[in-house]
Amino acid sequence: MDASTLLWMGALLLVWYLSVGFGITVAYHRVLTHRSANLRKPLLYALVLAGLPAGPPAEWVGNHRRHHADSDGANDPHSPVHDGFWYAHCGWYLGIRNRGLCLLYALGGPLRYLIDIALRPMSPGGHDALAKDVLEDRFLRFLSTRFGFLVGSTVQALPFVLAYLLMAWDGVIIAWVAGIVFYNAGDAVNSVGHLWGKQDFDGACEARNSRFVALVSLGEGWHSGHHAFPRSARHGLLKGQVDLSFILLRVLASIGLASDLYLPSSEAITQRRRA
Ligand SMILES: [Zn+2]
Ligand SMILES: [Zn+2]
Repeated sequence: MDASTLLWMGALLLVWYLSVGFGITVAYHRVLTHRSANLRKPLLYALVLAGLPAGPPAEWVGNHRRHHADSDGANDPHSPVHDGFWYAHCGWYLGIRNRGLCLLYALGGPLRYLIDIALRPMSPGGHDALAKDVLEDRFLRFLSTRFGFLVGSTVQALPFVLAYLLMAWDGVIIAWVAGIVFYNAGDAVNSVGHLWGKQDFDGACEARNSRFVALVSLGEGWHSGHHAFPRSARHGLLKGQVDLSFILLRVLASIGLASDLYLPSSEAITQRRRA
């Protein structure tokens, strides 16, 4: 493989990783689920489309609100404390408890697009009551149906899949590795983020702050801070906790594409901080 092909592949990888990542962290999580900020509609829709590997928007938001309503409790859809690492990491998406099958799914890379389109729960479904606001939006409701999710996922993935296929097997292998990394980086927030790391805040269930998870998940690994202040647009609340998703929201706000970024007061942060 020559140097220019390598460079081209690397650039594609970065765009894919960052677009999926910020789609999930900024649009799905901080804006749709927690209403930590507002985004201009076209940008919100583009980011949701980019983040579709996370799953249908209404299902994701409903499940995530359930997670916050009873974190690490009996009704948490993905607590590693109750259900073990693999179920919380990725088994819960499909209701799989067999660790071998979970591992295969975790290594599925781009194949997970197809598995999810066929098997993930969609709307109308069990969590719609917790995501009524998402379902009120026609575009988000469409993406939450099986047909809409299929169409959206095709639009999102096709340019990357074609580009890598044109590069033959080298491209397929690199795309596969990228898929494994971006799926598992997000999944690690639910598994690693409730098992290993520092509990910087009181009353934040078993959630932990992990520098490594924060790095690969664009700031979501500051999970103790997030559970202590779920509505905060910034998850890395303490000094030195770099939060790339919050940095992006600040940049978007500075050019008028985002607004109403919610932040807790420094007094509130100090009060909740563990000694
Ligand atoms: Zn959590
Ligand atoms: Zn959350």
